[in-house]
Amino acid sequence: MPCAGRCDEPIPVIRGDQVLIGTDANDLESRPSPVPSPNPQGREECVFRHIREPDRSTIEGYRRTGGYDGLTLAVSELNPAQVIDIVRDSGLAGRGGAGFPTGVKWQAVADASGAPKTIVCNADEGEPGCFKDRAIMDHDPHAVIEGMALAAYATGAPRGFIYLRYEYPETLGTLQRAIKEAEEAGLLGERILGSAFDFTVVVRRGAGAYICGEEGSLLNSLEGRHPFPRNRPPFPVTHGYEDRPTVVNNVETLASVPHIVRRGADWYRALGLNDLAGTKVISLSGDVKRPGNYEVPLGLPLSTLLYDWAGGTGSSRSVQAVTMAGVSGGFLAGEDLDVTLDEPSIRAKGSFLGAGGIMVFDDTRDMVEIAHFAMEFFAEESCGKCFPCRIGTERLTERLAGTAGPTNLTAWLDEVNDIGRTMKAISACGLGMAAPLITESLLRYFPERVAQHVAHQARD
Ligand code: SF4
Repeated sequence: MPCAGRCDEPIPVIRGDQVLIGTDANDLESRPSPVPSPNPQGREECVFRHIREPDRSTIEGYRRTGGYDGLTLAVSELNPAQVIDIVRDSGLAGRGGAGFPTGVKWQAVADASGAPKTIVCNADEGEPGCFKDRAIMDHDPHAVIEGMALAAYATGAPRGFIYLRYEYPETLGTLQRAIKEAEEAGLLGERILGSAFDFTVVVRRGAGAYICGEEGSLLNSLEGRHPFPRNRPPFPVTHGYEDRPTVVNNVETLASVPHIVRRGADWYRALGLNDLAGTKVISLSGDVKRPGNYEVPLGLPLSTLLYDWAGGTGSSRSVQAVTMAGVSGGFLAGEDLDVTLDEPSIRAKGSFLGAGGIMVFDDTRDMVEIAHFAMEFFAEESCGKCFPCRIGTERLTERLAGTAGPTNLTAWLDEVNDIGRTMKAISACGLGMAAPLITESLLRYFPERVAQHVAHQARD
């Protein structure tokens, strides 16, 4: 049956009890994302290094501060293997959440047989509390395009796609304008910079579901299929878009590459603290005085970001908890707020940094209610392919809402833990494996509030 709607129709926006469609909704969606503020400690940045320069989103503004110098250097002086060496030696790893070493991924695609190869920029930023990729694309689109061109040169890929989150209509125009500028300047298309290197980039709007940000779902969606995750192996590096070798990299990862190629692997490595390589952009929101995107050195204490950079809660209230990885990493609270911003430190607490969204909740917030909202989101966005996630997210949502489940605390805990264990063990993708971190961390940090919640349910 043909779809009654059109893909370029206005996007409905939910605000409180209102669903806004048409002009009102477009007005809300078309607000430009804020330019990231500089960090108060003057820490050296990579991705945000020049993002605040005037006209940075235009090709003239981009080139004024060395834009496309990395691509020029690569095409004229480096062979593809040397570009991969620089990226691998820099220690850059996927900044969309998975953290896979970028140079290793590029090498695997370069080594794979099959053509044409493809570069896919994953710009389907759908994690609650993550808004960094939008800022990069809005204010530094050419950095993403140059990063894709460098990936293409390194791996031998003649075509690329930017898979853009459907709900970013203004960003679509910015990217399309930037691609046209690059084509007219001979930086995309055939015989780039007079060399034998050809590379084209096309923007595709996402299908409007959270799961489309998952690598396999994204590739299925790009091919016009239903966006179910794919079974792995095989991996996209050998069987990606159209079953051919494909690099899938996040926006932040790709936007880091031009700086790394220009300045060198050692420069990037040295940006991190405590022997950690490089930086990470954190989207900070919630009960915090100065929310926004911050590029932090990996290894920075969370407390430095929260209090010294972002001003704490901005009130007399204290920080009760934060989320990690948007909401996918569950909560950190109490003494576990004493972490540094890097995967080893955060994983030691049972969570993960992921795409870098951190939401802050002060001590007035009801954490059971917050957990319920988060689980309801996962239940809504579960693609339904596998039953542990499809059913488990619904059952956990009901229990956090207090509308179903045992009224005895021990039985309630047994059931919630059992559902979570099952989901983590046999869900087919990251959504089903991560969602139980919400309940796990809620039980770990707020057992008394959970006991109250169940007792209240028993009384009702
Ligand atoms: Fe779909 Fe959830 Fe299974 Fe992932 S875990 S494939 S989102 S049902």
